[in-house]
Amino acid sequence: MKKTGIIFGKFYPIHMGHVDFIQKASGLIDELYVVVCSDDTRDKDLFKKSKMKKMPTIKDRLNFVESIFKYQNNIKIIHLAEDGIPFYPNGWKLWSERVFETLLKNNIKVDVIFSNEPQDVENYKNNFLTLPNSEKVFSKNLKIQTIDINRDNFPISATEVRNSPYHNWDFMPKPVQEFFAVKVAIIGTPHSGKTTLVHKLSNCYNTNFVEDYKKKYSQKNNLKNLEEKDFQHIAQKHQEKISKSIKNSNKLIFIDTEFCSLQANLLELDKKENNVINNLIKKEDFDLIFYIENEKKTPKIKEFDENLKEILAKNNKKMINLKLKNNNFTEIYNLSLDYINKLIE
Ligand code: NAD
Repeated sequence: MKKTGIIFGKFYPIHMGHVDFIQKASGLIDELYVVVCSDDTRDKDLFKKSKMKKMPTIKDRLNFVESIFKYQNNIKIIHLAEDGIPFYPNGWKLWSERVFETLLKNNIKVDVIFSNEPQDVENYKNNFLTLPNSEKVFSKNLKIQTIDINRDNFPISATEVRNSPYHNWDFMPKPVQEFFAVKVAIIGTPHSGKTTLVHKLSNCYNTNFVEDYKKKYSQKNNLKNLEEKDFQHIAQKHQEKISKSIKNSNKLIFIDTEFCSLQANLLELDKKENNVINNLIKKEDFDLIFYIENEKKTPKIKEFDENLKEILAKNNKKMINLKLKNNNFTEIYNLSLDYINKLIE
């Protein structure tokens, strides 16, 4: 007879302790259901109390779990909405009824509940086995099995991750890291030192950077003057490179040039904006945009400046001006470190 197990959790967000727990449980059973629980009010409240830069929605939390276990067919992911039920541990009866309905609807019959909360063991038994028609969903010999109650393998909790995501970076599975990675864009006019700053910062934070694709594209195709179609292609390629690079970043990723500045470059040439670039401006959210502003401004730089500021303002994007005085690049470097450290500490 096939044996089915189940694990309940908020997985807010899923961390390496959860992953290890799920992997161990999946090896003890034929089929394992991982139930990702949500409660809108509670989840928003937990976010408010946290230091997470953005709130993982229930869709994000389900995506994280699905993507981590996508190659293991015996692990199935389902969602349980707990809205309206008194919060744990005050709603055991109503919660058990909600679980029962969900499992019945999904045609799931459970032999083992895995939990690393020893205080819940008796509650699971008492509440699940006394439900009317309990046998439709729970085996009469329902077992509650703990695996690592002391969190010996991964001493971490989701509360700690929420309260200090960057300090607990190594406890986050890859898709969660990708979600929380801080995107820092650096823009500036030619010879402002932006590419050097990108290299310095990525070295200092031991992480990836995305190069200015415009420069590479012009050199590769031997183009002196770019047209609108080139800008569109550059923007799309740049976005692909950002998405790829962020998958393996170490807390931060540094991006040489972003989409508002590409649009400002295009405006200088064409006097009109490109819609594909506009969509990328809306879609891609950078956590920090540094603009290295040169003291000496040629009319061309002035025009770029004005266009850039207008596009940023129109799209509600804020940038931080790092004013370059007397070619003091060290000052700019130190200033950018201050801003970044404030964000990740
Ligand atoms: P969680 O996401 O914090 O943890 C999920 C599981 O992983 C738990 O068994 C936990 O012990 C285990 N775990 C956590 N960190 C670990 C680590 N480092 N190493 C090994 N294992 C680790 O979820 P949770 O808060 O336990 O989720 C239970 C869900 O069930 C909640 O959504 C809760 O609301 C619901 N519930 C509600 C009631 C109620 O009265 N309303 C009653 C029971 C359960």
